[in-house]
Amino acid sequence: MEIKIEDLKVLFSEEQLQTRIKELADEMNKFYNGEEVIAICVLKGAVMFAVDLVKNLDMPLKMEFIRLSSYGSSTTTSGKVNAVDIQLPDLNDKNVLIIEDIVDTGLTAKFLIDFMHCNFHVKSLKFCSLLDKKITRKVDVEPDYYGFEVDDKFVVGYGLDYDGLYRNLRYIGYKGSSPDGDYQG
Ligand code: 5GP
Repeated sequence: MEIKIEDLKVLFSEEQLQTRIKELADEMNKFYNGEEVIAICVLKGAVMFAVDLVKNLDMPLKMEFIRLSSYGSSTTTSGKVNAVDIQLPDLNDKNVLIIEDIVDTGLTAKFLIDFMHCNFHVKSLKFCSLLDKKITRKVDVEPDYYGFEVDDKFVVGYGLDYDGLYRNLRYIGYKGSSPDGDYQG
């Protein structure tokens, strides 16, 4: 599947994204109630979301960045998670908030949650994803917070890429003209 900019249809506009992000941040501000949080942004896809989310969080907060990959080709998952770069400080007794772009099969989310529990005795662990493709889930994992549910379409923009492109879009889009079944999850 090839995705050209002129084929893209808007799924979530900039305004919809920003409104929902503020709602998520309000929920988190209430939950953490002023306690310090370590926010871990999963590169590269979550970068836009993480930046906009943390700007709306009002507790003392530190940001960390890790890099994973699960995608085999441009639009299909490889079915396994590669830890490209995970260098983290001591997270024992910390409130850890993982910030991801999208939960698809759930393999990445499960890998990260297991990784945190195996390596640290965290005070709390929350997993937040901007998008949740519940329909394509292969492992039993649910984000604690998510922005929007999406069905089984390959989405781009606002951090999410196709072959490295489109991360800079202010909206989330999809290839409107693609026949169903083109994307293999
Ligand atoms: P999972 O491990 O849940 O199958 O996949 C998580 C990762 O797959 C996401 O962090 C993201 O990088 C990639 N991914 C899954 N669905 C999509 C999609 O629709 N568009 C893009 N651009 N990436 C996706």
